[in-house]
Order: sequence, then C-alpha cells, then structure tokens
Amino acid sequence: MLESQGLSILDTTHSGGAVLGLALSYNSPILWCTGRREERVHSNLLNQLFRIQTCFLTLLCGAFAGCAGVFSGQESAVVTRAQMQMGTVVKITAVARSESVAQAAVAAGFAEIRRLEELMSTWIPTSELSRVNASAGVMPVYVSSETLTVVQRAMQVAEMTDGGFNIAIGPAVDAWNVIEGGRIPTESELEALRPLVDLMSVHVDVRKQTILLEKAGMRIDVGGIGKGYAADQAVEALQRAGAVAGVVALSGDIKTFGRLPDGKLFPVGIQHPRKDGSVLAWIDLQDEAISTAGDYERFFERDGVRYHHILDPRTLQPARSCQSVTVIAHEGVWADGLDTGIFVMGVESGMQLVEALPDVEAIIVDHEGHVHVSSGLQDRIRKP
Ligand code: ADP
Ligand code: MG
Repeated sequence: MLESQGLSILDTTHSGGAVLGLALSYNSPILWCTGRREERVHSNLLNQLFRIQTCFLTLLCGAFAGCAGVFSGQESAVVTRAQMQMGTVVKITAVARSESVAQAAVAAGFAEIRRLEELMSTWIPTSELSRVNASAGVMPVYVSSETLTVVQRAMQVAEMTDGGFNIAIGPAVDAWNVIEGGRIPTESELEALRPLVDLMSVHVDVRKQTILLEKAGMRIDVGGIGKGYAADQAVEALQRAGAVAGVVALSGDIKTFGRLPDGKLFPVGIQHPRKDGSVLAWIDLQDEAISTAGDYERFFERDGVRYHHILDPRTLQPARSCQSVTVIAHEGVWADGLDTGIFVMGVESGMQLVEALPDVEAIIVDHEGHVHVSSGLQDRIRKP
C-alpha cells in the first residue's frame, strides 16, 4: 500500500473493532529485536532492491511477523505499523486510550522521522548534510538546530570513544564498498583518504549555526547515530499526539516509553552475532533506548576473512575486536552513537567507558564470541 510519505510495506487492517489478519490479542507478548538489519540497500546499482527481513519477533504467534495490527482492549488500544524510512524498516507501536488516538500517534511518529530524514539523509541531495558535503573545502553551511545537535552529539561520542566514532569516515567506507559486494583497498589508497576522515577538519560553529568541512572531498554522514536520534524525536511526537506508551524501532535502533496495556515492559531480543535469527539474550525495557552494532550486519568474505562495514578510523580497516556491541541508554542518540564507537574501542576500554557513564549499559560480544555484560545489566538480561 502506498502512502504519501513513501512506501508503507506493512499496514494496519482494521474494521469495526475487528482486527483483520491478526490472531493476537494484545496480551500476547510482542517482542522486538535489536541488531538484526531490515534495510533497503542504498546503492546506485541496487537502488530498486529491497532487502527486508522482519526483525520483530512474536513468541506465540509466528503469523504476526510481517503483519501489523490494532489490538483494542477495554481501556486501551495498541496500534503497530511499519514503513520504509531512512533506508530501513521502521516499526512504530503506540498505546493510547482509543484506536484513533493511537493511529494518530503512529502517523505523527512516521511524519517526524520523515522530516528528520529530509534534513539529514545524505541520500537526499537537498538535505542539509548533503549541502554541507557539497560545500566541503569551500564554505560553511547554515543548518537547523536539530542537524547541529546531531552533529554535536556525534562529536561528543567521538571524544568519549577516543575517536572510535567518526562521522567523517564515509570516504573510507566507500573504498571498501561493502554494500555492493566489497573490495579490499590498498594501503596507499587508504593512506590517501586519511586527511579526509580527520575530525579536526570538521568545524561546528554553534553561535552561527554552521558546519564547515575544511577540505574538498570530505563528507560527514550521521548513519551511525541518526537513527537513534530519530527514535528519540519520534517518541516525543507519539507522546505529543496522546500515546501513553509505545515503541519506535528503526530496524535495531529501538526506543520505548511506558508499558504495555497489561503492565508488562517491552521485551527486546538481542541478535546473536553468529547465529542468524537466534536471540543471544532478552531484556525488558521501560523508557529506554537500545541499539546494536555488529560485524555480521553488512560484510563480505575473502579467503576466509570477514570484512565488514564498521571501520577503525585509525587504521581505516574493519574494526576487529568485537562481533557485536549492544548499548542501552535513556536516549537513542547515545545508544546508537556509542554502540559503533565502543565496537571500535573493544571490550576493555569500551566496558570501562560504559561503567563510567551513568545510565548507560552494554552487552559486548568480543572477537572470540565471549559475552561481556555491564554491571547494571547483570540481573536484567534473560537467556533465551
Ligand atoms: P547501522 O545500524 O546502519 O549498521 P551503526 O550504528 O552500526 O548503523 O553504524 C554503522 C554505520 O556507520 C556504517 O554504515 C558506516 O557507514 C558508518 N561507520 C562505519 N565506521 C564508523 C565509525 N568508526 N564511526 C562512525 N560511523 C561509522
Ligand atoms: Mg550506531
């Protein structure tokens, strides 16, 4: 079904209080999953190709996967819908007093994500960040306070992770071409790109609200943090529209608020980095965000070696110390930025950082497959 905001791949079918295509009551546990990609492949060659895997799991009813629906109880309604946005499957659930309020809240959430995508997506040539990139080496570009905020957060995460997180890494990511099958760039090729991925050459002027990329050929991309920010903002839109609880999930970047109508928290499964479709651990969330970065999300193999999409900005090679990093924080922007940055840092200094940050927790699977859990999560995670 096509909607004005883009392609709605899954949509609610509701008629006169009945739910079509659904065999669930809202008491059935609906589960979310972080770390498994549901995405549209962004590439010139494969622009038309949609690679969609459903990430939303249900415990009792497999039929729910890939559907969306409305559950109307006596006191509250739960509406779930999914659309392609930001190059991925976005699934929004709203709990509200009535179905119409829940529907309006879900629509407000999608509209908010669309608005942010138009500001910040580098796949949209007219976006603010595309204009910043087009002016690299030429002049500063005025941006909205929101774009400025996300770029500032990205710079803060870069500092916190000792440069592990780097929004200027794009030219090096392209050299590896992981999305379109992959190639191994030469050392000299990567060396030539090094000046372009230098964060010291990204100048954010808060007073003038401008961003300048000092050198021609530089570009910044908030792909490693923007979905978390969008989840935060979409949750606020849901709340403004009257939802009392809900979940916004941009693929594996998930933000929850409140509780399900039966009082239960929102259960989220963490994808096992080496067993496709298997859950490593479960966690229940309330008013929290979760995000996972993994080496299994986008990768190619040559001679038995895995090359993936998260690069160590120091070496410009795929970061080698983790298989996956899941971060839980109050805000999606931190969870999303930190998962990528900690992935690069590795388990030792990554866990040190997590333990030093209030309200941030993590589950790190190191390169040998050992699972490390931060102190605040020890009693919260459940094995499948
Ligand atoms: P996704 O959920 O899209 O995989 P992640 O939060 O895992 O997002 O971030 C990975 C994306 O960020 C990659 O697609 C890549 O373009 C970009 N990226 C790769 N390495 C880094 C890095 N060291 N710092 C920031 N972004 C990076
Ligand atoms: Mg991230």
